[in-house]
Amino acid sequence: MLVVSVVVSSAAVMFYGTSLMRSSFMEEASLQAGSTLRLAVAALDGHLKRYEPLPRLIADHENIEELLSQPQDPGLRLAANRYLKMINTLLDSSDIYVIDMTGDTIAASNFEGPASFVGQNFSYRPYFQEAAQGRPARFYALGTTSAKRGYYFSAPVEVGGSILGVIVFKVDIDVIEATWQGGEYKIFVSDPEGIIFMSGNPDWLYKSLLALTEERLARTTASRRYSDARLEELPVRRHTLDGYDLMDVQSEGTSREYLVLSEYVETADWTVNVLTDTTSVHAQARTTVIAIVLSLCLAGMALAVVLQRKARRDQWLAMEIERKAELERRVEERTADLARVNLQLRQTQADLIQAGKLAGLGQMSAALSHEFNQPLAAVKNYADSATLLIERGRAPEARDNLARISSLIDRMASLSRHLRNFARKPNEKLGPVALADVLNDTLEIVAARLATADASLTLDLGAVPPVVNAGSVRLQQVLVNIITNAADAVEGLDDRAISLTARATGGRAVIEVRDHGPGVPPAIAERIFDPFFTTKGPGKGLGLGLSISYNIVKDFGGDLTVSHHPEGGAVFRIDLALADALSEAAE
Ligand code: ADP
Repeated sequence: MLVVSVVVSSAAVMFYGTSLMRSSFMEEASLQAGSTLRLAVAALDGHLKRYEPLPRLIADHENIEELLSQPQDPGLRLAANRYLKMINTLLDSSDIYVIDMTGDTIAASNFEGPASFVGQNFSYRPYFQEAAQGRPARFYALGTTSAKRGYYFSAPVEVGGSILGVIVFKVDIDVIEATWQGGEYKIFVSDPEGIIFMSGNPDWLYKSLLALTEERLARTTASRRYSDARLEELPVRRHTLDGYDLMDVQSEGTSREYLVLSEYVETADWTVNVLTDTTSVHAQARTTVIAIVLSLCLAGMALAVVLQRKARRDQWLAMEIERKAELERRVEERTADLARVNLQLRQTQADLIQAGKLAGLGQMSAALSHEFNQPLAAVKNYADSATLLIERGRAPEARDNLARISSLIDRMASLSRHLRNFARKPNEKLGPVALADVLNDTLEIVAARLATADASLTLDLGAVPPVVNAGSVRLQQVLVNIITNAADAVEGLDDRAISLTARATGGRAVIEVRDHGPGVPPAIAERIFDPFFTTKGPGKGLGLGLSISYNIVKDFGGDLTVSHHPEGGAVFRIDLALADALSEAAE
């Protein structure tokens, strides 16, 4: 679009600009030529004006009057001739002469020269004809005798009320013409017939700007203005452009165009012309237009560069925005993904915890049903045999049976109490928990497992068993878990001893469970509290026990750690806050 607009505007500038510029430069040229014209007219006018009153002055001179009264008197002729010669020299004019009423010249300033006017008849000259009729006249012509151009002023010579002759005063015009030569302008003077009478360029003299029609030639011939000079038409073609007069002149095979400025001078009855060669006008117009077009192209190019830069910057900005948006979108996507994965993880974890709990519950149910079935079967046996013993009258033995039944029922009641503990809400409040009580309940639960593993558990709670800040059911869950793991670890080994110690130091209670199993290598210790970390075979371990225990201890504001005993086996250490006296009192 830019290229098209530059091309179109360039073409428009070329088309309209050229004529506009030409018109502007033409006006400038015309103004300059106008002042040249005014100067030329003023110079001519000034030159001639000086001589205008002189013929009448001379006409009044007595020598002239006397001569015309007695034209044939040689003395008077000589006196007049000398007088005319004298004042001609004095006035720096071309010629001064006296003509009688027949047109014959009777005295002249050039009476001595070879081309003397004396004896010549000038009756055909309009200046003679008018002066002879009493009117001072002016005329310009090429001298028939002198073959010199001049400007003629004539005046009648009146003696005693009648016109006796005419005095003529011829002025040289060469001086003025000489100043027109070789200048920037072509200055020339043409007569009413369009024939060039004066010119800075001598070649153009006596050339006609207008067609030399018979009428014109006849008029010129009558006054013999151009004497015997050969008149020719100047090969010109006149036309106007933007209101200016132009003239094409053919010379030596080439045509030149000029701007024409003319002024008709009424007093002299001629037209002064100034011609300006329009080549420079056209060249200036062309140069200016080319400069404008070039500037346009340059401006177009600059604009193109600016636009291109802007486009590139816009593109870059757009890309940047796009990039940022993309980045934000990806961050959002990732965040959403993460949130989703987190949610899934939490869900899975929750599900698995639930599954773990259920599995634990299942295990516990199995264990409990085993625990209940055995005493129930025993109770049944004791009851049956008690009945038989009573039937047989063996009362003491029957009583013994009943005592055993009672003891078994006690045991089952204890188990059921434990179950009740589990039925409690998991989010029980924290409070002072006597470790000894918790361990009692724990032992009841783990006893069966310890028995199957054939493991022994020794307790050492110190002189004063600690009371810790915890939830009893959950603490019990932790202990069950750790002791069960210890039983798993020692099962089938030679040394199946498990020891539990508890000590209160510096406001904290430290419970350590140590076994003599394979222990926990550092690589496993790192991950042992992770959910689902288990080394046990499929269907045996879920890997949730320690993870849940860890979280429970953390909930108590405590710490659960594992270490490898220097003498072999694993040590699980539970660090809990001791319950203060106030809480103890409250409990
Ligand atoms: P699970 O018992 O279901 O495997 P836990 O979280 O209770 O899950 O235990 C995780 C793992 O820690 C066990 O699989 C076992 O490898 C290891 N572990 C736990 N207690 C002991 C211990 N006393 N001695 C050796 N390894 C143990």
